[in-house]
Amino acid sequence: MTDVTVIPASPTLMDEPIMDITVVGAGPTGLFAAFYAGLRGASVQVIDSLEEVGGQCSAMYPEKYIYDVIGYPMVLAKDFVAACLDQALRSNPTLHLREQVQTLEPLADGTFILHTTKGQRRSRTVIIAAGVGAFEPTRLGAAGVPELEGRGIHYFAKHIEEFRDKNVVIVGGGDSAVDWALTLEPLARTVNLIHRSKFRAHETTVADLEASTVTLHYPGYEVVEVRSGPGGRISGLTFRHLEGHTQDLDVDELICAIGFKADPGPIKTWNLELQRNQVIVDKVTLQTNIPGVFAAGDIASYPAKFKLIANGAGEAVTAVNHAVQHIDPSARLDAGHSTTIMEKREKAAAI
Ligand SMILES: Cc1cc2nc3c(=O)[nH]c(=O)nc-3n(C[C@H](O)[C@H](O)[C@H](O)COP(=O)(O)OP(=O)(O)OC[C@H]3O[C@@H](n4cnc5c(N)ncnc54)[C@H](O)[C@@H]3O)c2cc1C
Repeated sequence: MTDVTVIPASPTLMDEPIMDITVVGAGPTGLFAAFYAGLRGASVQVIDSLEEVGGQCSAMYPEKYIYDVIGYPMVLAKDFVAACLDQALRSNPTLHLREQVQTLEPLADGTFILHTTKGQRRSRTVIIAAGVGAFEPTRLGAAGVPELEGRGIHYFAKHIEEFRDKNVVIVGGGDSAVDWALTLEPLARTVNLIHRSKFRAHETTVADLEASTVTLHYPGYEVVEVRSGPGGRISGLTFRHLEGHTQDLDVDELICAIGFKADPGPIKTWNLELQRNQVIVDKVTLQTNIPGVFAAGDIASYPAKFKLIANGAGEAVTAVNHAVQHIDPSARLDAGHSTTIMEKREKAAAI
Protein backbone atom coordinates (compact mmCIF):
# COMPACT_ATOMS: atom_id res chain seq x y z
CA MET A 1 0.00 0.00 0.00
CA THR A 2 1.20 3.54 -0.67
CA ASP A 3 2.81 5.27 2.30
CA VAL A 4 0.67 7.91 3.94
CA THR A 5 2.02 11.01 5.65
CA VAL A 6 0.10 11.68 8.84
CA ILE A 7 -0.05 15.43 9.43
CA PRO A 8 -0.26 16.55 13.08
CA ALA A 9 -2.97 19.03 14.06
CA SER A 10 -1.88 22.66 14.25
CA PRO A 11 -1.42 23.91 17.79
CA THR A 12 -3.67 26.90 17.19
CA LEU A 13 -6.80 27.24 15.12
CA MET A 14 -5.48 30.25 13.24
CA ASP A 15 -2.60 28.17 11.82
CA GLU A 16 -5.06 25.66 10.48
CA PRO A 17 -5.79 26.04 6.75
CA ILE A 18 -9.43 26.21 5.78
CA MET A 19 -10.26 23.38 3.39
CA ASP A 20 -13.05 23.37 0.84
CA ILE A 21 -14.17 19.88 1.83
CA THR A 22 -13.46 17.81 4.93
CA VAL A 23 -14.33 14.16 4.67
CA VAL A 24 -15.00 12.39 7.96
CA GLY A 25 -14.03 8.75 7.42
CA ALA A 26 -11.41 7.13 5.19
CA GLY A 27 -13.39 4.06 4.18
CA PRO A 28 -13.99 3.38 0.47
CA THR A 29 -16.61 6.14 0.30
CA GLY A 30 -14.40 8.73 2.00
CA LEU A 31 -11.41 7.86 -0.18
CA PHE A 32 -13.44 8.17 -3.35
CA ALA A 33 -14.93 11.46 -2.12
CA ALA A 34 -11.37 12.72 -1.58
CA PHE A 35 -10.39 11.75 -5.12
CA TYR A 36 -13.50 13.32 -6.61
CA ALA A 37 -13.06 16.53 -4.61
CA GLY A 38 -9.64 16.89 -6.23
CA LEU A 39 -11.12 16.22 -9.64
CA ARG A 40 -13.47 19.14 -8.99
CA GLY A 41 -10.54 21.35 -8.02
CA ALA A 42 -11.51 21.48 -4.34
CA SER A 43 -8.98 21.30 -1.51
CA VAL A 44 -9.74 18.32 0.70
CA GLN A 45 -8.74 16.69 3.96
CA VAL A 46 -9.79 13.30 5.28
CA ILE A 47 -9.96 12.45 8.97
CA ASP A 48 -10.26 8.92 10.34
CA SER A 49 -10.06 7.58 13.86
CA LEU A 50 -8.40 4.35 12.74
CA GLU A 51 -4.69 4.06 12.02
CA GLU A 52 -5.18 2.79 8.50
CA VAL A 53 -7.50 3.75 5.68
CA GLY A 54 -10.17 1.44 4.24
CA GLY A 55 -12.85 1.45 6.95
CA GLN A 56 -14.67 -1.87 7.26
CA CYS A 57 -12.69 -3.41 4.36
CA SER A 58 -9.38 -2.99 6.20
CA ALA A 59 -10.60 -3.53 9.74
CA MET A 60 -12.98 -6.42 9.24
CA TYR A 61 -12.29 -8.38 6.09
CA PRO A 62 -9.00 -7.46 4.41
CA GLU A 63 -8.43 -11.00 3.15
CA LYS A 64 -11.91 -11.64 1.84
CA TYR A 65 -12.76 -11.28 -1.83
CA ILE A 66 -15.21 -8.61 -2.96
CA TYR A 67 -17.14 -9.46 -6.13
CA ASP A 68 -19.43 -6.49 -6.62
CA VAL A 69 -17.29 -3.41 -7.10
CA ILE A 70 -17.06 -1.95 -10.55
CA GLY A 71 -14.11 -3.02 -12.68
CA TYR A 72 -12.97 -5.98 -10.59
CA PRO A 73 -14.50 -9.44 -11.17
CA MET A 74 -13.04 -10.32 -7.77
CA VAL A 75 -10.60 -8.43 -5.58
CA LEU A 76 -9.19 -8.91 -2.09
CA ALA A 77 -10.55 -6.18 0.18
CA LYS A 78 -7.00 -5.10 1.13
CA ASP A 79 -6.00 -4.81 -2.55
CA PHE A 80 -9.17 -2.86 -3.28
CA VAL A 81 -8.36 -0.44 -0.46
CA ALA A 82 -4.81 0.00 -1.75
CA ALA A 83 -6.22 0.94 -5.16
CA CYS A 84 -8.74 3.34 -3.57
CA LEU A 85 -5.92 5.00 -1.64
CA ASP A 86 -3.75 5.34 -4.73
CA GLN A 87 -6.68 6.94 -6.53
CA ALA A 88 -7.42 9.28 -3.61
CA LEU A 89 -3.78 10.38 -3.40
CA ARG A 90 -3.98 11.69 -6.98
CA SER A 91 -5.98 14.57 -5.45
CA ASN A 92 -3.32 15.36 -2.81
CA PRO A 93 -5.69 15.16 0.15
CA THR A 94 -4.36 15.83 3.62
CA LEU A 95 -4.87 12.61 5.56
CA HIS A 96 -5.29 12.76 9.31
CA LEU A 97 -5.30 9.25 10.69
CA ARG A 98 -5.69 8.10 14.31
CA GLU A 99 -7.84 11.19 14.81
CA GLN A 100 -11.53 11.15 15.74
CA VAL A 101 -13.85 14.02 14.95
CA GLN A 102 -15.71 14.70 18.17
CA THR A 103 -17.68 17.89 17.60
CA LEU A 104 -18.85 19.77 14.53
CA GLU A 105 -19.25 23.49 15.12
CA PRO A 106 -21.03 25.56 12.45
CA LEU A 107 -19.83 29.17 12.42
CA ALA A 108 -21.86 32.27 11.60
CA ASP A 109 -19.94 32.73 8.29
CA GLY A 110 -21.19 29.33 7.10
CA THR A 111 -17.87 27.50 7.63
CA PHE A 112 -17.13 24.79 10.18
CA ILE A 113 -14.69 23.91 12.92
CA LEU A 114 -14.21 20.21 13.47
CA HIS A 115 -12.99 19.55 16.99
CA THR A 116 -10.96 16.36 16.97
CA THR A 117 -8.94 14.29 19.38
CA LYS A 118 -5.84 16.11 18.09
CA GLY A 119 -7.11 19.67 17.86
CA GLN A 120 -9.25 21.65 15.46
CA ARG A 121 -9.72 21.53 11.68
CA ARG A 122 -11.47 24.14 9.54
CA SER A 123 -13.63 23.58 6.51
CA ARG A 124 -16.11 25.23 4.17
CA THR A 125 -18.15 22.03 3.82
CA VAL A 126 -18.17 18.59 5.44
CA ILE A 127 -18.93 15.19 3.97
CA ILE A 128 -19.67 12.60 6.62
CA ALA A 129 -18.55 9.19 5.32
CA ALA A 130 -18.35 7.60 8.73
CA GLY A 131 -19.81 4.23 7.73
CA VAL A 132 -21.22 2.41 10.69
CA GLY A 133 -19.22 4.62 13.03
CA ALA A 134 -16.89 3.05 15.50
CA PHE A 135 -17.30 -0.69 15.31
CA GLU A 136 -16.75 -2.96 18.25
CA PRO A 137 -16.96 -6.75 18.04
CA THR A 138 -19.39 -8.53 20.33
CA ARG A 139 -17.16 -10.16 22.94
CA LEU A 140 -17.44 -13.87 23.64
CA GLY A 141 -18.96 -14.29 27.08
CA ALA A 142 -16.99 -17.34 28.27
CA ALA A 143 -14.71 -17.75 31.29
CA GLY A 144 -11.05 -16.91 30.58
CA VAL A 145 -11.74 -14.81 27.48
CA PRO A 146 -10.75 -11.36 28.81
CA GLU A 147 -7.36 -12.70 29.99
CA LEU A 148 -6.58 -14.32 26.62
CA GLU A 149 -7.70 -11.57 24.25
CA GLY A 150 -4.85 -10.87 21.84
CA ARG A 151 -3.26 -14.22 22.70
CA GLY A 152 -4.94 -16.47 20.17
CA ILE A 153 -8.44 -14.99 20.39
CA HIS A 154 -9.45 -13.05 17.27
CA TYR A 155 -12.49 -10.91 16.56
CA PHE A 156 -11.32 -9.84 13.11
CA ALA A 157 -9.30 -12.53 11.32
CA LYS A 158 -6.91 -10.41 9.28
CA HIS A 159 -4.01 -12.56 8.10
CA ILE A 160 -4.78 -15.99 6.72
CA GLU A 161 -1.21 -17.24 7.10
CA GLU A 162 -1.33 -17.09 10.90
CA PHE A 163 -3.84 -19.95 10.82
CA ARG A 164 -1.77 -22.31 8.67
CA ASP A 165 -1.36 -25.78 10.26
CA LYS A 166 -3.21 -24.62 13.41
CA ASN A 167 -6.16 -26.07 15.30
CA VAL A 168 -8.74 -23.39 14.61
CA VAL A 169 -12.10 -23.00 16.32
CA ILE A 170 -14.67 -20.58 14.96
CA VAL A 171 -17.66 -19.41 16.99
CA GLY A 172 -20.71 -18.05 15.18
CA GLY A 173 -23.18 -18.86 12.43
CA GLY A 174 -23.38 -15.77 10.22
CA ASP A 175 -21.67 -15.04 6.90
CA SER A 176 -18.34 -14.16 8.50
CA ALA A 177 -18.16 -17.36 10.57
CA VAL A 178 -19.08 -19.58 7.64
CA ASP A 179 -16.77 -17.75 5.21
CA TRP A 180 -13.83 -18.02 7.59
CA ALA A 181 -14.46 -21.73 8.17
CA LEU A 182 -14.41 -22.35 4.41
CA THR A 183 -11.40 -20.09 3.83
CA LEU A 184 -9.30 -21.74 6.52
CA GLU A 185 -10.35 -25.34 5.91
CA PRO A 186 -7.68 -26.01 3.23
CA LEU A 187 -4.76 -24.63 5.25
CA ALA A 188 -5.53 -25.15 8.96
CA ARG A 189 -4.78 -28.49 10.64
CA THR A 190 -8.36 -28.72 11.97
CA VAL A 191 -11.34 -26.39 11.81
CA ASN A 192 -14.19 -26.74 14.30
CA LEU A 193 -17.23 -24.48 14.18
CA ILE A 194 -19.39 -23.99 17.26
CA HIS A 195 -22.77 -22.31 16.98
CA ARG A 196 -25.77 -21.82 19.22
CA SER A 197 -28.63 -21.82 16.73
CA LYS A 198 -29.33 -22.14 12.97
CA PHE A 199 -26.92 -20.69 10.41
CA ARG A 200 -27.79 -17.18 9.22
CA ALA A 201 -25.30 -17.29 6.35
CA HIS A 202 -26.06 -17.49 2.64
CA GLU A 203 -27.66 -20.83 1.71
CA THR A 204 -25.02 -21.81 -0.84
CA THR A 205 -22.11 -21.21 1.55
CA VAL A 206 -23.90 -23.17 4.28
CA ALA A 207 -24.28 -26.05 1.77
CA ASP A 208 -20.54 -25.77 0.98
CA LEU A 209 -19.79 -25.82 4.71
CA GLU A 210 -21.89 -28.91 5.29
CA ALA A 211 -20.05 -30.66 2.45
CA SER A 212 -16.61 -29.62 3.79
CA THR A 213 -14.30 -31.25 6.34
CA VAL A 214 -15.09 -28.56 8.92
CA THR A 215 -16.36 -30.24 12.10
CA LEU A 216 -19.70 -28.66 12.95
CA HIS A 217 -21.12 -28.41 16.46
CA TYR A 218 -24.57 -26.91 16.03
CA PRO A 219 -27.31 -26.09 16.87
CA GLY A 220 -27.35 -25.68 20.62
CA TYR A 221 -23.61 -25.43 21.41
CA GLU A 222 -21.76 -22.66 23.20
CA VAL A 223 -18.26 -22.09 24.53
CA VAL A 224 -18.15 -21.96 28.33
CA GLU A 225 -14.44 -21.67 29.07
CA VAL A 226 -11.12 -21.02 27.33
CA ARG A 227 -7.78 -22.11 28.79
CA SER A 228 -4.19 -21.02 28.35
CA GLY A 229 -1.18 -23.23 27.81
CA PRO A 230 2.59 -22.70 27.90
CA GLY A 231 3.49 -19.16 26.83
CA GLY A 232 0.15 -17.82 28.04
CA ARG A 233 -1.63 -18.33 24.72
CA ILE A 234 -4.94 -20.08 24.29
CA SER A 235 -4.53 -23.88 24.19
CA GLY A 236 -7.96 -25.35 24.78
CA LEU A 237 -11.61 -24.73 25.40
CA THR A 238 -14.70 -26.38 26.79
CA PHE A 239 -18.03 -26.11 25.05
CA ARG A 240 -21.37 -27.51 26.03
CA HIS A 241 -24.69 -28.44 24.54
CA LEU A 242 -27.55 -26.43 25.92
CA GLU A 243 -28.93 -29.70 27.35
CA GLY A 244 -25.83 -30.06 29.50
CA HIS A 245 -23.10 -32.37 28.14
CA THR A 246 -19.66 -30.79 27.71
CA GLN A 247 -16.72 -31.47 25.42
CA ASP A 248 -13.10 -30.24 25.26
CA LEU A 249 -11.12 -29.16 22.20
CA ASP A 250 -7.48 -28.31 21.57
CA VAL A 251 -7.28 -24.84 20.08
CA ASP A 252 -4.41 -22.71 18.81
CA GLU A 253 -6.54 -19.93 17.35
CA LEU A 254 -10.11 -18.99 18.24
CA ILE A 255 -12.09 -16.75 15.89
CA CYS A 256 -15.19 -15.19 17.49
CA ALA A 257 -17.48 -14.09 14.68
CA ILE A 258 -20.61 -13.39 16.68
CA GLY A 259 -21.35 -9.96 15.30
CA PHE A 260 -20.36 -6.44 16.05
CA LYS A 261 -21.97 -3.39 17.51
CA ALA A 262 -21.76 -0.20 15.55
CA ASP A 263 -22.21 3.22 17.01
CA PRO A 264 -21.90 6.59 15.28
CA GLY A 265 -20.54 7.79 18.63
CA PRO A 266 -19.87 11.54 18.68
CA ILE A 267 -21.83 12.10 15.44
CA LYS A 268 -24.99 11.66 17.50
CA THR A 269 -24.25 14.98 19.22
CA TRP A 270 -23.85 17.08 16.03
CA ASN A 271 -27.53 18.11 15.85
CA LEU A 272 -28.06 15.99 12.74
CA GLU A 273 -31.34 14.25 12.00
CA LEU A 274 -30.71 10.58 12.65
CA GLN A 275 -32.62 7.40 11.94
CA ARG A 276 -31.38 4.14 13.47
CA ASN A 277 -27.79 5.39 13.78
CA GLN A 278 -27.74 6.74 10.21
CA VAL A 279 -27.75 10.38 9.14
CA ILE A 280 -30.86 11.39 7.21
CA VAL A 281 -30.01 13.13 3.94
CA ASP A 282 -31.89 14.67 1.07
CA LYS A 283 -32.01 11.95 -1.57
CA VAL A 284 -31.07 14.34 -4.42
CA THR A 285 -28.29 16.41 -2.86
CA LEU A 286 -27.22 14.14 0.02
CA GLN A 287 -27.23 17.25 2.21
CA THR A 288 -28.11 16.74 5.87
CA ASN A 289 -30.35 19.06 7.86
CA ILE A 290 -27.28 21.30 8.34
CA PRO A 291 -26.53 23.34 5.19
CA GLY A 292 -23.01 22.57 3.95
CA VAL A 293 -22.89 19.18 5.68
CA PHE A 294 -23.42 16.16 3.45
CA ALA A 295 -23.33 12.41 4.12
CA ALA A 296 -22.44 9.49 1.85
CA GLY A 297 -21.86 5.75 2.14
CA ASP A 298 -23.16 3.49 4.88
CA ILE A 299 -23.85 6.38 7.27
CA ALA A 300 -26.29 8.13 4.91
CA SER A 301 -29.97 7.26 5.09
CA TYR A 302 -32.63 7.91 2.45
CA PRO A 303 -35.49 5.81 1.03
CA ALA A 304 -34.36 2.62 -0.76
CA LYS A 305 -30.78 2.94 0.45
CA PHE A 306 -28.27 0.14 -0.30
CA LYS A 307 -25.27 -0.17 2.01
CA LEU A 308 -22.76 -1.26 -0.62
CA ILE A 309 -19.35 0.00 -1.69
CA ALA A 310 -20.57 0.66 -5.24
CA ASN A 311 -23.44 2.82 -4.00
CA GLY A 312 -21.15 4.69 -1.59
CA ALA A 313 -18.92 5.68 -4.53
CA GLY A 314 -21.87 7.11 -6.45
CA GLU A 315 -23.00 8.98 -3.36
CA ALA A 316 -19.49 10.39 -2.90
CA VAL A 317 -19.73 11.96 -6.38
CA THR A 318 -23.16 13.44 -5.62
CA ALA A 319 -22.07 14.81 -2.25
CA VAL A 320 -18.86 16.36 -3.65
CA ASN A 321 -20.69 17.99 -6.58
CA HIS A 322 -23.25 19.54 -4.25
CA ALA A 323 -20.54 20.59 -1.77
CA VAL A 324 -18.70 22.35 -4.61
CA GLN A 325 -21.87 24.18 -5.59
CA HIS A 326 -22.57 25.04 -1.94
CA ILE A 327 -19.18 26.78 -1.78
CA ASP A 328 -19.64 28.52 -5.12
CA PRO A 329 -23.27 28.65 -6.30
CA SER A 330 -22.05 29.68 -9.77
CA ALA A 331 -20.01 26.47 -10.14
CA ARG A 332 -21.36 23.79 -12.46
CA LEU A 333 -23.05 20.98 -10.58
CA ASP A 334 -21.85 18.39 -13.05
CA ALA A 335 -18.10 18.37 -13.60
CA GLY A 336 -18.26 16.48 -16.86
CA HIS A 337 -16.09 13.47 -17.65
CA SER A 338 -12.76 12.79 -15.98
CA THR A 339 -11.31 11.96 -19.40
CA THR A 340 -11.91 15.53 -20.56
CA ILE A 341 -11.06 17.23 -17.25
CA MET A 342 -7.70 15.49 -16.93
CA GLU A 343 -6.85 16.03 -20.60
CA LYS A 344 -7.48 19.78 -20.21
CA ARG A 345 -5.39 19.89 -17.02
CA GLU A 346 -2.48 18.10 -18.66
CA LYS A 347 -2.59 20.47 -21.65
CA ALA A 348 -2.72 23.51 -19.32
CA ALA A 349 0.23 22.19 -17.29
CA ALA A 350 2.26 21.66 -20.46
CA ILE A 351 1.89 25.31 -21.59
C1 LIG B 1 -17.73 -8.85 6.56
C2 LIG B 1 -18.21 -7.80 5.57
C3 LIG B 1 -18.23 -8.09 4.23
C4 LIG B 1 -18.68 -7.13 3.30
N1 LIG B 1 -18.70 -7.45 1.96
C5 LIG B 1 -19.11 -6.51 1.06
C6 LIG B 1 -19.14 -6.81 -0.34
O1 LIG B 1 -18.83 -7.92 -0.77
N2 LIG B 1 -19.56 -5.81 -1.19
C7 LIG B 1 -19.94 -4.57 -0.76
O2 LIG B 1 -20.29 -3.71 -1.58
N3 LIG B 1 -19.93 -4.29 0.58
C8 LIG B 1 -19.53 -5.22 1.48
N4 LIG B 1 -19.54 -4.91 2.83
C9 LIG B 1 -20.01 -3.58 3.24
C10 LIG B 1 -18.93 -2.52 2.93
O3 LIG B 1 -17.72 -2.83 3.59
C11 LIG B 1 -19.45 -1.17 3.38
O4 LIG B 1 -20.62 -0.86 2.62
C12 LIG B 1 -18.38 -0.09 3.14
O5 LIG B 1 -17.22 -0.33 3.88
C13 LIG B 1 -18.95 1.28 3.51
O6 LIG B 1 -17.95 2.20 3.26
P1 LIG B 1 -17.94 3.62 4.01
O7 LIG B 1 -16.70 4.29 3.53
O8 LIG B 1 -19.25 4.26 3.80
O9 LIG B 1 -17.81 3.26 5.56
P2 LIG B 1 -16.73 2.44 6.38
O10 LIG B 1 -16.04 1.43 5.55
O11 LIG B 1 -17.45 1.94 7.60
O12 LIG B 1 -15.66 3.54 6.82
C14 LIG B 1 -16.03 4.56 7.71
C15 LIG B 1 -14.79 5.14 8.37
O13 LIG B 1 -15.19 6.27 9.14
C16 LIG B 1 -14.41 6.32 10.32
N5 LIG B 1 -15.11 7.12 11.33
C17 LIG B 1 -16.34 6.92 11.85
N6 LIG B 1 -16.65 7.90 12.72
C18 LIG B 1 -15.59 8.74 12.74
C19 LIG B 1 -15.31 9.94 13.45
N7 LIG B 1 -16.18 10.50 14.31
N8 LIG B 1 -14.09 10.54 13.25
C20 LIG B 1 -13.18 10.00 12.39
N9 LIG B 1 -13.41 8.85 11.69
C21 LIG B 1 -14.60 8.25 11.87
C22 LIG B 1 -14.27 4.85 10.72
O14 LIG B 1 -13.13 4.67 11.53
C23 LIG B 1 -14.14 4.17 9.34
O15 LIG B 1 -12.77 4.00 8.97
C24 LIG B 1 -19.11 -5.85 3.76
C25 LIG B 1 -19.08 -5.55 5.12
C26 LIG B 1 -18.64 -6.50 6.04
C27 LIG B 1 -18.62 -6.17 7.51
